Amino acid sequence: MKNAFHVMIVPTLGCPARCRYCWSSDPASPRMGMGTLREVVDWLKGIEKERVTFTFHGGEPLLAGAGFYREALPLISRELAHLEPEFAMQSNLWLMTPEIADVLAEYHVPIGTSIDGPEDLNDTQRGEGYFQKTMKGYAIAREHGLKVSFICTFTSRSFHEREKIVRFFRENGFTLKLHPALPSLRNDNPEPWTLDPADYGELLVYLLDTSLEHLGRMEIMNINDLCKCVFFRHGTVCTFVDCMGSTFAIGPDGGIYPCYRFVGMPEYVMGNVADRPTLDSLADSHIGRLMRDFRAFVNRACAGCAHIRYCRGGCPYNAMVPHGGEIKGVDPYCTAYRRIFDEITGRLDREMADSLPFEMGPFPPARQKGRKPGIMALMRHQAMKMRMQMP
Ligand code: SF4
Ligand code: SF4
Repeated sequence: MKNAFHVMIVPTLGCPARCRYCWSSDPASPRMGMGTLREVVDWLKGIEKERVTFTFHGGEPLLAGAGFYREALPLISRELAHLEPEFAMQSNLWLMTPEIADVLAEYHVPIGTSIDGPEDLNDTQRGEGYFQKTMKGYAIAREHGLKVSFICTFTSRSFHEREKIVRFFRENGFTLKLHPALPSLRNDNPEPWTLDPADYGELLVYLLDTSLEHLGRMEIMNINDLCKCVFFRHGTVCTFVDCMGSTFAIGPDGGIYPCYRFVGMPEYVMGNVADRPTLDSLADSHIGRLMRDFRAFVNRACAGCAHIRYCRGGCPYNAMVPHGGEIKGVDPYCTAYRRIFDEITGRLDREMADSLPFEMGPFPPARQKGRKPGIMALMRHQAMKMRMQMP
């Protein structure tokens, strides 16, 4: 099987919203033209070994307009068919129109959008009117058959409203993906809002309990992913794998970065698609070497940690932020990762020990009488869901 390769396309860093903790929006940002998109395609034609997921990110990617996607999606699908392209988008949906929805639906583009909880709480963090604008776009997306999931950013303030937020997602039947408000290398905007690592750990344990309590009735994607990490003993989301070399982001001018979080900072450009750089030359760039240094650093710094195989020191970008872009530590959210991984492994060990040997299959009994569902039940639920989704 070919390795997965992830290309994030950032058509602009502009965005019509003004979220209080945003670090990426830049009103003066240019927009990617079709010429640059064609250069992206030509660059990737020379990279033949991988399966590629393209995620349109921002800023706000819908600012690129219907015409951009009407050309870009068939171009990528046709010219890069050997890479088996799949698509995704991260958008606030404000600019969703029936025309854009039609083309995204034709290419099966799932969308992740952002809502931080009930309207009042969301608009306090993301600006007045945000909630209604996103819900309007959501309705159009759903009418056109698009799959939309919600990302909820938890901040230092909304952490204290976690029960209200979880209830909102549960009562609306929305799948919840949690995102902590994080500090940035680009600016200090997020600082007053960032989630404390200890609070993040506590939040994850709370969400684990919530997920088990409402098993089958509410999906919390982070909890599913964290349990899969432990169960299969390797990371299943970018934070917990060595993302370097398998993820790239392309900015509006064709600049190549290690991830969307670096886009717009010239000192982190690895190359430009117009020059058709090889993967080796990208890995040899200054930032390519910095990302590799992180892997080596983690191998030393986390050597004694029981979770190193499926944590991998967390996110290299997060790790660089407190040190002005240098590698001098692992991801500061280590405290949170260790807390939730300890919790999951501890519970899993107890569940395994409690299972009678003759009951042990790949997925032992989900629930014994009088017992609450545990990690094994959650994994079994996930496996059954995957089986049902298989063609
Ligand atoms: S730098 Fe962080 S956010 Fe970016 S791909 Fe790597 S782990 Fe993910
Ligand atoms: S939990 Fe902390 S110490 Fe353990 S691998 Fe992750 S970052 Fe390293």
